[in-house]
Amino acid sequence: MIVDFHIHIGKKEHWHPWVNEHFKNLNPELYDNFDDIMNPEGLEKYLKKQGVDFAVILAENSPITTGVVSNEFVHDFCEGKGMFITFASIDPITEDEPSTELGRLVEEEGFKGLKLYPTYQQYNPNDEIVYPLYEEAQSLGIPVMVHTGSSIFKGSKVKFGNPLLLDDVAVDFPDLKIIMAHSGRGLWYKEAFFLAKLHENVFMEVSGLPPKNLLRYFPDLEENADKVLFGSDWPGLRSIKDNIEDVKALPLENSTKEKILGLNAAKLLGLK
Ligand SMILES: [Zn+2]
Repeated sequence: MIVDFHIHIGKKEHWHPWVNEHFKNLNPELYDNFDDIMNPEGLEKYLKKQGVDFAVILAENSPITTGVVSNEFVHDFCEGKGMFITFASIDPITEDEPSTELGRLVEEEGFKGLKLYPTYQQYNPNDEIVYPLYEEAQSLGIPVMVHTGSSIFKGSKVKFGNPLLLDDVAVDFPDLKIIMAHSGRGLWYKEAFFLAKLHENVFMEVSGLPPKNLLRYFPDLEENADKVLFGSDWPGLRSIKDNIEDVKALPLENSTKEKILGLNAAKLLGLK
């Protein structure tokens, strides 16, 4: 089973010009055919062709840096598509009642997780302003994914991406599953690896990292075999299929590769 834990959807008009420019430069062919793929049927077909069985689809409420792909858009796009697993985006600073809104999105709109963007929305992920959201997510029994590591878009502040800031959250919310998106990309691989090993409730998601380099970033990856989650960060990177093949080619136990590519995610999300 293959689960892609990190997919963005949206329309060109949802993103700032520099974000569109980034997508275009990385994958011009995809960008030219964007409208054919960026609809519920198109994406479902595309992902299946790439070998993906389930995909986590992320809303993104980051008006300062990238743009706004609203929870409503994600909900409507994914409705009725069993392979799509929706994660909501709530900005704890600008949302009036963040935890009430999270409860509504989960209970009424069927969202299965929350994505936080501290580097894009500019706060420390262990700031008390975020705690009501963690509290609510823990009681709802949903995981929280937090962007960690580098962010290249204008207006983002990388200092908020240190995974070590999640140490507080992991300890204060022992029943909350915390997913470190990009596993500390660029600056903090050691910290991300250490936290995932130390805390039962912390996971490493490796999207945005070339799979070929995974053992260079995490030489003891096998020790965290139950904690690593595959993701592509599509449409920002090369083909998902190539990334899957690159994971399969790594000199790791077969069982570890199966866990990374889908079994860990299936367990975390309760997929059958
Ligand atoms: Zn992303």
